[in-house]
Amino acid sequence: MQLLARLPGLGPRSSRKAVLALLKRRNDLLLPLADALQQAIVKIAECPQCGNLDTVSPCSVCADPRRDASLIVVVEEVGDLWALERASVVSAHYHVLGGHLSPLDGIGPEQLNIAKLVTRAKSPDVKEILLALNATVEGQSTAHYISDLLQGTDVTVSRLAQGVPIGGELDYLDDGTLAAAFKARRKL
Ligand SMILES: [Zn+2]
Repeated sequence: MQLLARLPGLGPRSSRKAVLALLKRRNDLLLPLADALQQAIVKIAECPQCGNLDTVSPCSVCADPRRDASLIVVVEEVGDLWALERASVVSAHYHVLGGHLSPLDGIGPEQLNIAKLVTRAKSPDVKEILLALNATVEGQSTAHYISDLLQGTDVTVSRLAQGVPIGGELDYLDDGTLAAAFKARRKL
């Protein structure tokens, strides 16, 4: 229970519930979970190229020849990569930073997977770096930092659009989102 409570999104209450469920369902939940965790320890590793997590190295995304090798989509965490893959909006390569710049928490460029991104950006195959970072202050300052770093290279640096979400009603949007949508308006 103490270990589970350390996981994000699981406080002491929900970890107690989870443990009770596991103990009650020994055969169909506890044993398969223990086995899956054991396998994860042995098999899952960080991809040396992009920072994704996979059972093969380089990861199945990096090794996929059907993907557009001219575009690298930069994300903060592996979860963001999974989100983009689930939405299947892009068939390109990725680069996982492992977080965002946060000087107050002691996270500078050296703590993130940035140096390798610059190396990858210099490859002749790569034409565009899309900074798909979170629309937070930290995410956007990380994007600016990387964009500055890539100034001297031949790649086009782009970022995700910001503004009105699909199905969003203007009345419900926060001021920041409305302002971003205004700034990013397009001709019809
Ligand atoms: Zn990879």
